[in-house]
Amino acid sequence: MAGFTIPFFSAARYLSRNVSLFMPSASAAFCLLPPLALNATTASRNSSSLRAMITSFVGERKSVDLAAKGCRGFRLRIVVLRFSRGRITAMPVANLPLHIAAKYSLDHRRFIARNPKLAEPTAYCPCCGSSFKEWRPVFGRGRKAECHVCHSFERHRHIWLTIDADRDFFSKGSKLLHFAPEPFFKNVFGQNPNLDYFDCDLAKERATYQVDITAIPFGDEKFDRVICSHVLEHVPDDRKGMSEMFRVLKPGGIAYVMVPSEVRAATYEDPAINTPELRLKHYGQATHVRIYSRDDFVARLQECGFVVEVQFPRRKYGEEMCKDFLLGDNIYICSKPDY
Ligand SMILES: [Zn+2]
Repeated sequence: MAGFTIPFFSAARYLSRNVSLFMPSASAAFCLLPPLALNATTASRNSSSLRAMITSFVGERKSVDLAAKGCRGFRLRIVVLRFSRGRITAMPVANLPLHIAAKYSLDHRRFIARNPKLAEPTAYCPCCGSSFKEWRPVFGRGRKAECHVCHSFERHRHIWLTIDADRDFFSKGSKLLHFAPEPFFKNVFGQNPNLDYFDCDLAKERATYQVDITAIPFGDEKFDRVICSHVLEHVPDDRKGMSEMFRVLKPGGIAYVMVPSEVRAATYEDPAINTPELRLKHYGQATHVRIYSRDDFVARLQECGFVVEVQFPRRKYGEEMCKDFLLGDNIYICSKPDY
């Protein structure tokens, strides 16, 4: 059982060949079908007919709207989640600027040409649309989890699917504050003309803005979205960082926060653990300053005013998608109430 990614013309062929499968009478066959990751280029000549086909097949209005929104020069991507009662439920994976999509597509072809043994598709990257037989070992020796083409890890793929399903994320003029930006996201967000993108890091060479999360140099209620992944476990005054994120978000805005966290009674932190050696010994990494308890992390975010939803990849996307896309880490979806 596996998902697969297919290019535009194959997608059109796939859909037209399988139209009969979408009839209710064929519903028994649906459970045998793999989830379909569909890449369609809206700038293509046949885009309107393909889009019409897709929109007639998807069951959720959210998807239909996004499909209609797919503007020229952007790649419209839809991940089909379910086939049931004769309809596809699709999740839009939208707005990859066309030139970036084209680059990843070329990089993928080159990679497979160099590594023909990895051509069989059993691992699928929703970020760049690549597929291969297995993931790359992290840092060349660790667990096999890295995309060969865009270099995403489990947590990046999870957050990418999530923000792509957030229909307001890529709205025109949307202001995005991003801490410790990963190269893939920096590339994609930075070149998206819809986004007003502020990439921040403590280290000047890693981002446009040199920013300390505990003293964010921007005004109140400026941003629509914040992404803060694997940052707070390095920050001594993490509560200040959380309240700063709350302050700069607009009411109704969302912060997507990720940290390594465990199911444990209390967060493990001790100011006496204050050298890289001690931190490595106690927290498992020389730059971490604590190990979060999941419940306590949620409580800290709530203390700052956030409404928190913890999204578990397996619960959200199911075993099969988690296996195909290799998704990992919980996302703490933190909303600033709109009242
Ligand atoms: Zn990738």
